[in-house]
Amino acid sequence: MKTDCLFCKIIAGELPCDQVYSDEHVIVFEDINPKAPVHLLIVPREHIISLNALEEKHDGLMGHIMRLLPKLAKEQGLDKGFRTIINTGSGGGQIVFHLHVHLLGGGGLGGTGF
Ligand code: 5GP
Ligand code: ZN
Repeated sequence: MKTDCLFCKIIAGELPCDQVYSDEHVIVFEDINPKAPVHLLIVPREHIISLNALEEKHDGLMGHIMRLLPKLAKEQGLDKGFRTIINTGSGGGQIVFHLHVHLLGGGGLGGTGF
């Protein structure tokens, strides 16, 4: 845990969140400022700053997250599809520097997403 990290504090239970899923590898909760009717954040329990900090030891974790995404989408009723986003670095729009995947859906997400 990194003591000044917002998501580490949420994982540690020091800050509240609307949690929808949890296991030994990740916690999933609702984004505080949703950009779509469903907007979840899939957050590894390990403090990894961004995709740039991934190492080979994280391959299993990342595979776990990829396979979890469609299950979460199904649970949320996103039967027409969903969007996933990973912002990396300030130039990629990352605000919270603890790796996370956005899962969005439930309304009018057409086109490329840009
Ligand atoms: P980023 O731009 O880093 O990929 O996304 C960070 C996301 O975290 C944003 O969508 C923002 O709304 C969300 N967020 C920021 N602070 C909090 C918080 O305290 N609680 C929750 N649930 N989401 C947060
Ligand atoms: Zn963290």
